[in-house]
Amino acid sequence: MPVQLRCEFCSAIPKAEVAILRWVDDDRERLTLQLCAKHLGRIQKTGKRGWEHGGKLHKEGWW
Ligand SMILES: [Zn+2]
Repeated sequence: MPVQLRCEFCSAIPKAEVAILRWVDDDRERLTLQLCAKHLGRIQKTGKRGWEHGGKLHKEGWW
């Protein structure tokens, strides 16, 4: 079984698997992403307004 050992947004080893809501306007995706400490921290710090990456916004939690 291949194992995802890289952060979704960089090549670092993930710290945790996190429920992430990714959205553009009303188009919402509920994902479980592997995130490193740096990117998890960025998403948590940005909070409800969403951390932007690749033209999409991301926040922790599905609601
Ligand atoms: Zn990362």
